[in-house]
Amino acid sequence: MEKKQFQAESKRLLDLMINSIYTHREVFLRELISNASDAIDKIYYKALTDDSLRFDQDSYYIKVEADKENRTLKIIDTGIGMTREDLENNLGVIAKSGSLAFKNENELKDGYDIIGQFGVGFYAAFMVADIVTVISKALGSAEAYKWESEGADGYTIEPWKKDAVGTEIILKIKENTEEDQFDEFLEEYRLKEIIKKYSDFIRYPIKMDVTVR
Ligand code: ADP
Ligand code: MG
Repeated sequence: MEKKQFQAESKRLLDLMINSIYTHREVFLRELISNASDAIDKIYYKALTDDSLRFDQDSYYIKVEADKENRTLKIIDTGIGMTREDLENNLGVIAKSGSLAFKNENELKDGYDIIGQFGVGFYAAFMVADIVTVISKALGSAEAYKWESEGADGYTIEPWKKDAVGTEIILKIKENTEEDQFDEFLEEYRLKEIIKKYSDFIRYPIKMDVTVR
């Protein structure tokens, strides 16, 4: 399969994420949950003006699933989903709200300021994961697609199977090293703590599921 390259500016941000020595890595979860919430909002607002769409409160939620043995953390939403073009256009480019343009090189090297104050969006996933997979099915679309990236060397997109509309982000959590511990991002208590800290205001239910073995 052909590997597509990230845009130059995205690649720069990605490199920063991958090599981050940033102590507030936990914000990756804030970014992914806020994207999930935005995606559900999009269906909510669409339903207000589209009579063929019903917003049934119980069908819309965000789910966080940790699997310690496989070292995967999934963030699942029942939001509007992404088409192949959306995956290409939205994940291959830098966050529009990310304020990279305003930052100078020194701040970028430090990493602290940009991530703490502005958020870097989706790419924050690469602070804790060495493989990021996005499986998505857009509202009104018959096909689903899988986007996958191991970081700066690009990404692939291929048709995939998914029944329900929405998005599943699968993070392959990095292995611990001598200097860096990542196991905490597979621990239920820690994930709950991060969600409480940053996502208390999210107005959709955040469900949790943890598999130990
Ligand atoms: P921002 O949220 O500031 O736009 P992000 O980098 O967080 O930037 O996300 C980029 C884009 O990718 C979003 O604007 C959205 O279009 C798309 N996206 C990311 N996550 C999801 C998701 N879970 N469901 C649908 N679209 C998503
Ligand atoms: Mg975002």
